[in-house]
Amino acid sequence: MSRYIIDGHTHLGLESFIVDEIPKWKLKKPAFQVKMENTPEALLASMDRSGITRSAVFPFPLEEVDSIQANTYVLDNCRQHPERFIPFSLLDDEPERWIELGTNGFKQHFLLAPERFNAIEVYRPIERSGLPLVAHFSTGKALDEARTILDIAPDLTLIIAHMGRQVPNTGAGVLELAAALKDEPRVYLETSTVDDADIIKKAADIIGADRIIFGSDFPFNSDTWEESTLHELDTIYCSFKDEIVREKILYGNIQSLISVDSGNQQ
Ligand SMILES: [Zn+2]
Repeated sequence: MSRYIIDGHTHLGLESFIVDEIPKWKLKKPAFQVKMENTPEALLASMDRSGITRSAVFPFPLEEVDSIQANTYVLDNCRQHPERFIPFSLLDDEPERWIELGTNGFKQHFLLAPERFNAIEVYRPIERSGLPLVAHFSTGKALDEARTILDIAPDLTLIIAHMGRQVPNTGAGVLELAAALKDEPRVYLETSTVDDADIIKKAADIIGADRIIFGSDFPFNSDTWEESTLHELDTIYCSFKDEIVREKILYGNIQSLISVDSGNQQ
């Protein structure tokens, strides 16, 4: 068991940040079967149960969420728990505002919040800042959407959420995407809700274990497995037996992309 683990994908936020009505077609999606709320207390308790040292924390990435309230909540809670939480901000039209306020990266969800900003004007400031963008792409369109971002901002660090899988809790489409992006050195794949140790291992063989990042997507999947973060961790342990490789995936790779220090690393 690695003694230092960074979870590269968690959510924090309150349902009160959802200020617009969510259309019925969206409510049928698997993501909405979980309450769009997670408090710092609940996240810390889950991290303690699963042995997670720190978590990258994003708001719930909905178009209907007020990004100012949601991002402010994440930043405030990260300031209160600097040893445990690493703030990421929802992408909106003002990335510079969040960079100035100390965010460590951005989160974009193409399916649930497709058009809340002007792409050309937001990707370049992120590229200049050097901070990573975590992107959850539309089903089956991961390669096109990744190429669109990289055409605008070729030096942007892109972390593809869920390894770009097309169906929750499967590896569908992951190997094809890894092969198509293997020559893009700034592209990383984050492992949450893939749930396929063999596919994760094969993807690492294609793009290199240096570009795989562990994530849980907590609190999503909490109803699927009793302790979803532990389940996601088990998958990584099944995929990778080598301790040095595990440590890269469990914290080293993401740590190299963000500015948090590792002072309390064991
Ligand atoms: Zn997520």
